[in-house]
Amino acid sequence: MIVIGGGPAGLAAAYSAWEQGLCDVLIVERNMELGGILNQCIHTGFGIDYFGEELAGPEYAERFVSRLRGTSIEVMLSTMAVKVTDSKEVHISGRSLGYMVLSAQSVVFATGCRERTRGAIGIPGSRSSGVITAGAAQYFVNVEGYIPAKRAIILGSGDIGLIMARRLALEGVEVLACVEIMPKAGGLTRNVVQCLHDFDIPLLLSHTITDICGDARVESVVVSKVDENQEPIAGTQVVYECDTVIISVGLISENELVYDAGILIDRQSVETSVPGIFICGNALNVQDIVDSVTIEGIFVGDLAAKFVIGQGGRGCG
Ligand SMILES: Cc1cc2nc3c(=O)[nH]c(=O)nc-3n(C[C@H](O)[C@H](O)[C@H](O)COP(=O)(O)OP(=O)(O)OC[C@H]3O[C@@H](n4cnc5c(N)ncnc54)[C@H](O)[C@@H]3O)c2cc1C
Repeated sequence: MIVIGGGPAGLAAAYSAWEQGLCDVLIVERNMELGGILNQCIHTGFGIDYFGEELAGPEYAERFVSRLRGTSIEVMLSTMAVKVTDSKEVHISGRSLGYMVLSAQSVVFATGCRERTRGAIGIPGSRSSGVITAGAAQYFVNVEGYIPAKRAIILGSGDIGLIMARRLALEGVEVLACVEIMPKAGGLTRNVVQCLHDFDIPLLLSHTITDICGDARVESVVVSKVDENQEPIAGTQVVYECDTVIISVGLISENELVYDAGILIDRQSVETSVPGIFICGNALNVQDIVDSVTIEGIFVGDLAAKFVIGQGGRGCG
């Protein structure tokens, strides 16, 4: 069984397949370490349902990474799956291994998701630097130790945008506002209170950014009120001087490999159109809470193990 992606979904699927008695399990992960997006989420709030504890993202990931020790599960890091066929060949490319084609009896896609960018929502304005996604800002601050802004404005009030408003404020960035096109916040009320209210960051509901100005770097943005059709209302423009726009406007499942292989997926099911090929976690449906991703991964690992063993695959005896 080959699991593509070593985030919480892939880790849970691999471990559960091994627990079901499957010996030959491989995780292919393009990053240098396992854990997926959790490695950059250093705030707490993970694991309340699954572990009954409030853990930080890396702590949650470590609980699963440590379970792999002492199992026969193999891990290839810094290795990217670049192509998968419907006959379960997985083409991988890695720094140390070069290009290889592996054959499996079962493949699990656990490739996560990516963020919608400025281009995806088409904000007008100059193409100056300083427009970044919330996840990229999170990576800069929490992993690289680099503060990407001095005065920032956040577009989008989903949980990631809210959490980054607080994170940047804690690092001394002046966070001017969180701008949300909808009439209510996208994220949890808890996050609105703890990340905006507690830091005196205004939440501008039914507003959007209608222009980004600046030459080499962002110098200001124009924020406008929108009507019930989310169209900007003329005459409501307010200019905010800032050097950074943090975009947090949604996530998109990462499943180009699935589509390129001609494999069909149904968002209601972890099974694909090819028996033995499964998909789970954010690759299937973007999920807010990692605990539910873990539970889905465990379910898929169980199904995949039964499939492989049923086809005469090697169990651990
Ligand atoms: C920015 C952000 C903040 C979040 N904050 C919270 C929070 O505070 N609390 C909470 O409960 N949940 C939070 N979530 C949600 C939760 O963390 C995710 O639902 C969960 O991590 C999804 O797990 P996953 O394994 O599906 O995806 P991921 O964690 O994204 O893992 C996917 C893995 O697949 C790898 N991969 C992708 N393509 C390939 C390929 N072709 N070859 C090899 N490897 C590949 C990636 O490198 C990655 O490691 C957050 C999510 C994001 C994006």
